[in-house]
Order: sequence, then structure tokens, then C-alpha cells
Amino acid sequence: MRRAFGGTGLSDEQKQICSLARDFARDVLRPGSALRDEQEDSFDRTPVDRLGELGFLGMLIPEEYDGLGLDMLTYLFALEEISWGDPSVAVSMSVHNSLPTQTLLRHGTEEQKERWLKPMARGEMLGAFSLSEAGSGSDAAALKAQAVREGNGWRLNGSKMWVTNGASADVVLLMVRTDDPADRKGTRGIGAFLVPTELEGWVPGKKERKLGLRGSETVGVSLEDLRLGPEHLIGEPGLGFHYALEALEGGRLGIAAQAIGIAEAALDFARDYAAEREQFGRPIKDFQGLQFKLADMATRLEAARGLLYRAAQAYGADEQRKRKLSSMAKLFASETATWVTRQAVQVYGGYGYSREYPVERLFRDAKVTEIYEGTSEIHRMIISRELYLERGADE
Ligand SMILES: Cc1cc2nc3c(=O)[nH]c(=O)nc-3n(C[C@H](O)[C@H](O)[C@H](O)COP(=O)(O)OP(=O)(O)OC[C@H]3O[C@@H](n4cnc5c(N)ncnc54)[C@H](O)[C@@H]3O)c2cc1C
Repeated sequence: MRRAFGGTGLSDEQKQICSLARDFARDVLRPGSALRDEQEDSFDRTPVDRLGELGFLGMLIPEEYDGLGLDMLTYLFALEEISWGDPSVAVSMSVHNSLPTQTLLRHGTEEQKERWLKPMARGEMLGAFSLSEAGSGSDAAALKAQAVREGNGWRLNGSKMWVTNGASADVVLLMVRTDDPADRKGTRGIGAFLVPTELEGWVPGKKERKLGLRGSETVGVSLEDLRLGPEHLIGEPGLGFHYALEALEGGRLGIAAQAIGIAEAALDFARDYAAEREQFGRPIKDFQGLQFKLADMATRLEAARGLLYRAAQAYGADEQRKRKLSSMAKLFASETATWVTRQAVQVYGGYGYSREYPVERLFRDAKVTEIYEGTSEIHRMIISRELYLERGADE
């Protein structure tokens, strides 16, 4: 059910931004989403670039660095709308806004902010984030790609996997080992580098063929003697993993908003279809079996949204509360999205199983929200760990 912005406590300016996102999602994204899903071997950056022109790629960046300087809640409202229009476009918006730009903002030098953060906030440069490798996903600190000192700069070799926007982005925040292979430093032996993708040695592979989010670009990348000057290192050479985890806490809220946008779209389609489709001489919405299903879908969606907004409010609060709530919001919203989209397919019956109808795509798109930026199992581990830490603090 499309959320009304009234009663949300948003200012007029914030409401205007969310309305702009809603209009863009309805008029520009929704009409092209099925085609982008079909063209799974190519990637069209145009919708993401248009988001940039509207300011949506600099939502969380302060105005002094050419962003809109908005709060987390407004950003999440806008992201939900964009995901309602096309979840594949929403993932680009989420990655760019929460991961590379936030890390540059927190840990970049003024020179790095001038050179990269400002154009990224203006939407002139698209960002990506590369932590995962073929052998290290949930256990991300087990990554193997290596940077070695060369003069006053670095030479990088290795392979990365699953890089959203990895071939089309202009810059990538890349995590690689900076410690000596003979003296490993664990999570404190990983650095974060800002890599312009035009550099020789950044070699993206073909777009992965995926179950869903086919309109988004996901690639593996080879690092082949990629040479970087010292100005590409972000912060301290051994703290890149720490920066990545810090960024991912905000990123999770973005993925939760993406999941809610998917669930909302599926519920809208299911509600309208149930009013039009007739069986046994009446609209199927008149059957209590369907009414209960729609009611449960709407209730779970609102519960997910409530938890996300609570997590967003805690975003500036203490670390522990923020970590627990962001994991809870991501876990609950993503499992809500897979559940709601499955129900939507059921409401459509055989037509829900057909690629002619949009709920089939939403059903496929929802699944990845339970996998990336921490799987559901990893979030359950984090939440459970935080419960015991809280108990320890109380004692
Ligand atoms: C479409 C897409 C886009 C992505 N984009 C990016 C990106 O832009 N940048 C990036 O860096 N990465 C990206 N990823 C990678 C993503 O973050 C990883 O896929 C995710 O972290 C899971 O890692 P994995 O695939 O290696 O699974 P694994 O870690 O191998 O997990 C396999 C299974 O084991 C479970 N498991 C693992 N460890 C435990 C444990 N300790 N306890 C219980 N269960 C456990 C997992 O929950 C999962 O069910 C993307 C992935 C996809 C599919």
C-alpha cells in the first residue's frame, strides 16, 4: 500500500523530495523495468544517471560537498519509492549512497573529497563497493587480493567477485590486503582504496546471469598489476575492513528499504488484480481466503516499515543499538519481501507464474535481499550476539 507522506513528521522539503522519487519511479522507472530485466546481458546506466541529475546520488552528503545533506529517514523513503519502480535501479542508488560515498565522507582527506566525493554527490561519477571474493563472502575478512608497496604507491593483484556496478561505475571502493603475507594481521591487515575504473589493471568480467535483479550489473573483476598512487588509499592502510563494516551498517538500511519497495509493489499489483480477476462469478477479492492473504501481506509490510524507521532513528545513536536494529530491519524486511512476493504470485494464480505479469519478476528480485549485505543467517548471528552484549552491559 503506497505510504502517504502526511503524518510522517517530514518537512515540506522532505515531502517534496519523496514525491519527486515517487513520480520518477512511476513515470520513468516502472515502464522500463520489464525490459531491463529481459536484457540481462547488457546494462543501461541511463536511469541511474538520471537519478544523479535529480540529486538522488548525493542524498546523504552535506551541502558543502555538493550533496543534498538530507537525513537517513528521507533517504530511505526515497529509496523505497525508487525500488517500487525498479529494484535493479534501487540497488545502484543504495550502494552508491551508503558505501563508497559514506566512506569517503568519513575517512577521506579534503583532497579526496574534492576530487571524488563532490562529483559523486553531484551524480557525475557513479560509485561501487568491492569487498567480496569468490572464496570470501560471509567471512569477508578472509579475502586474498593483495596490495604491495611500490615506491610511494601500491601494486594490486587478485580477483574480486559480485561487484554491483563493477563495469560501469566510474570509481570503486576496493578492499584488499595490505599486510605482509608472511605476517598476516587479520581484520587489521586490509586497506580501502578508491579506484577509478578507467585505470589499466582494473579488468571487469561479463555481467553475471542471475535469478533476479537482472537489470542491475554484477561482475567479477581481475586486478592485474593495478598501480595506484598514495592518494588512492583511504584512511589508514590497515583499517579498510573496519571502514567497510561501518559503511555496511548504513547499507543494510538501504537494502531493507529496497526490500520494502519490492513488497509494496507486489502488494499493489496483487490488490488490483484481486479486484479485477473474476472466478465463480465474482471478483476473487470477495473470497475470504484472498482477503486474509492481502491483509497479512499489508500487515507484514507495515511492520517491516516500522522497524526500518526505528532503525533509521537509531542511526545517529549508540553503536550497539544501531548495529542490532539495522540487522533486525534488514533481516525482517528482506524476509517480508520474499514472503509477500510469494503470496502475490499465488494471488495471480497461473498468471503469477508467467513472465507476462510483473509479480513473477518481483518474486525473483526479492530473493537477493536475503543474501547480499549480510545473509539472513549472519544477521541472526549479529542480533543474537548483541543480545548477550546488552545483558553483559546490564550486569
Ligand atoms: C546480486 C549480488 C550483488 C552483490 N553485490 C556486491 C557488491 O557490490 N559488493 C560486494 O562486496 N559484494 C556483493 N555481493 C556479495 C554478497 O555480499 C555475498 O554474496 C554475501 O555476503 C554472501 O556471501 P557468499 O555468497 O560467499 O555466501 P557464503 O558466505 O558462502 O554463505 C553460504 C551460506 O552459508 C551461510 N553461512 C555462512 N557462514 C555462516 C555462519 N557462520 N553461520 C551460519 N550460516 C552461515 C550463509 O548464510 C549462506 O546461507 C553481491 C551478491 C549478489 C548475489
